[in-house]
Order: sequence, then structure tokens, then C-alpha cells
Amino acid sequence: MTRTQEIITWTEKWSARNYEPLPVVIERGEGVWVYDVDGRRYLDMLSAYSALNQGHRHPRILRALKEQADRVTLTSRAFHNDRMGEFLGKLCQIAGYEKALPMNTGAEAVETAIKAARKWGYLKKGVPENQAEIIVAENNFHGRTITIISFSTEAQYRYGFGPFTPGFKIIPFNDPEALESAITENTVAFLVEPIQGEGGVIVPDEGYLRKIREITKRHHVLLVLDEIQTGLGRTGKLFAFQHEDARPDILILGKALGGGVYPVSAILADDEIMDVFTPGDHGSTFGGNPLAAAVGIASLDVILEEDLPSRAAELGAYFMDELRKIQSPAIREVRGKGLLIGVEIKPEYGTARPYCERLLEEGILAKDTHHQVVRFAPPLIITREEIDWALERIRRVFQS
Ligand SMILES: *Cc1c(COP(=O)(O)O)cnc(C)c1O
Repeated sequence: MTRTQEIITWTEKWSARNYEPLPVVIERGEGVWVYDVDGRRYLDMLSAYSALNQGHRHPRILRALKEQADRVTLTSRAFHNDRMGEFLGKLCQIAGYEKALPMNTGAEAVETAIKAARKWGYLKKGVPENQAEIIVAENNFHGRTITIISFSTEAQYRYGFGPFTPGFKIIPFNDPEALESAITENTVAFLVEPIQGEGGVIVPDEGYLRKIREITKRHHVLLVLDEIQTGLGRTGKLFAFQHEDARPDILILGKALGGGVYPVSAILADDEIMDVFTPGDHGSTFGGNPLAAAVGIASLDVILEEDLPSRAAELGAYFMDELRKIQSPAIREVRGKGLLIGVEIKPEYGTARPYCERLLEEGILAKDTHHQVVRFAPPLIITREEIDWALERIRRVFQS
């Protein structure tokens, strides 16, 4: 037995089966590369679902982590710490908001945004108590808590987990008219991803974000954008909403905010919304802890100073062009924005999973999403040479 097989057997003996990982056991990572326990090297083209935009173990982020670990790691919000304000100030100034509320995981930030929107509805919009409605899009992915799966349209995410949280209305994605007709006087927010990531890298029509911004504003409904996957450079702008000047009322961030070393998430909004929270309303033991703040500061610095959004725009366009040139009867479509790219496999050629297994054999880590789509989302620090290295192997897989 190889070390890989041995570890997988042991892991599967003890781990709940809520995942089905590809058969590779990673023991080390550096930049865009990871190494397995049998000494093989792979190019990471998943980046932990965009949590590793800065690459594995970015030296600057690791230095911040270690220096902070030597001072203080956790105070709880019962006391101030000397890093959280610095982090939130930087985040707000970069994104253009008056306040931020720090959490840990993406799902917690989505839950926080839902709470903020509902309470804003009751306190500021005058919606009768317990009547607030939030509109969401079909094929969404916002996380895995009970409330969030309550408005998922993926049967497997819901099966066996009811009863569900009420107060959500589902409309088709990429359909501004459906949004306009779904709004009632009790609607407090429209929660949506600028590009549906887990849903299969679904890019809406040009103008969609601008239109939903205009519609929500006209109806006094909050636009809540989940940029946990699309934000922080991934799509070729710092935030995907900037492609269409569609600044949301609440912006949700996570994943790359922690630079791939620590869970850090947050929601951002102006005072008019954020001041619905008063002491005791909401909280998190680890949210805003000094280690998270130090990592968050360094993660933002790397994104800005290495100009990762421009790299994503430039290299993403090149990568997507080259993928589109691949002559393969199995490929139905190549789509995406920046370095968030999906290659959709025609159903008559099976699912995307065997393609990911073949890519793995070639030294490329990619993950199927939504059954038919191979997602390519490498760290944004990737070079053109590394993309060419990958393309050579991707061509081989799709043309064989
Ligand atoms: C990953 C993701 C989440 C959930 O984040 P977790 O940290 O896994 O809870 C929410 N929304 C989007 C768009 C995501 O990609």
C-alpha cells in the first residue's frame, strides 16, 4: 500500500462521509503548488474554492500570523484588542463602507447579513414584525446552515434536514423582471451572488448587476451581494460588483479574507444599516480576534500590493481564450470572469468527475462543481508560464 492509500483508508474509517475528496493526500503547499505524501507535485487550480487567492503560505501572511501568535491570539469581544479596529478600518476604506462586522466562516457572515437585513426592515422600513421577506436566486450557494439551506434549490443540500426557516422567496437567477415582480412591501433584501460559483460558474448577462441595483434602490430593498467567492480579486476587479458599478447595501466577504491560513469573514455596510445592531444583539466568540485581524490585514495588503485583481483580469482572459481553443466534442461551454472559469461537459460525455480524476493524474488539482462543470480557479499569483504548463495537460485530458 502507498502512503496515499494508507492515509485515505484510515481517514475514511474515522471521518464522517459528508465529502468525497479526490484520491490525493496533500502534505505541503507553497504558492500555486502542493505536494502529496508520495512525493508528487500538483498545480492547485481550486485554491480551496477561492480561499487561497494569495497562494499557499504566502510569506507575508505567515509572518503576520506568527508575529501575532507570539503576542495575543484571542481576547473575545468582552474586551478590545489592538488589531481589530486596524483591520476593519482598512477593510472599510478599501471597500468604501462605513462599518464592518467580523465573523469567521462565510456561512456565519451570510447569517449576519440576513439578520441585519431583517432588522433593518423592521426598524427602518417599517415592515410588520416577523413578516420580512428576503428574495434569493435559484441555483444559489450561500453556505450550509439550516437557515441558508432553507432557501437552497439543491435537493441534496436540504434532504433530511427540515423543518426549514421561513421568509425566503426564490426567483430565477439572471432575471431582473422576476425580481421586480417578486418584490412586495414586506421585501427587505435581495441576496445574490454576482457570479454563481458552486452553481457551476454561472455568469449573468451584462447589465444584470446594474439592473438589480437600480430595481432594489427604487423599491427601497437592500441589495446584499455574497462576494465570498467572487470578491478580493478573483474576477479581475477587487469586487465583482465593480464591473457594473453596482455597490451593494451589504457586502459579504470571506474565504480569501483569511489568506488561506485562517477563517475570516465579515459583512460591510453603512451606518444606516449597521446601526440596527446594538450591544448584545449578535456576536461570535472568535469573530474579530487579533489573530484573524492580523491575518486579514496581511491578506488585504498582499491583494492590493501585488495587484492581484489585474493579474486575474489579464491571465484569466488569456487562460479562457486558450481553453476555448481546445477542440473537444465533450466541451459544451467555457465561461467565467477573471480567474473564475468553468468548463461545462456535455451530459452525453458523463459527469465532470472523471475529467478531474484524469487532471489529477496529470498533476492538476481541479474540482467538479454542479455535476457537469470543471472549475479552474488557481491562486491569483499564478504566472503565465504556470498557466501554459497547465494548459498543456488540460489539452491532453480533453483531447484524449
Ligand atoms: C464558500 C461560500 C460560502 C460559504 O462559506 P463557508 O466559509 O464555507 O461557510 C457562502 N457563499 C459563497 C458564494 C461561497 O462560495
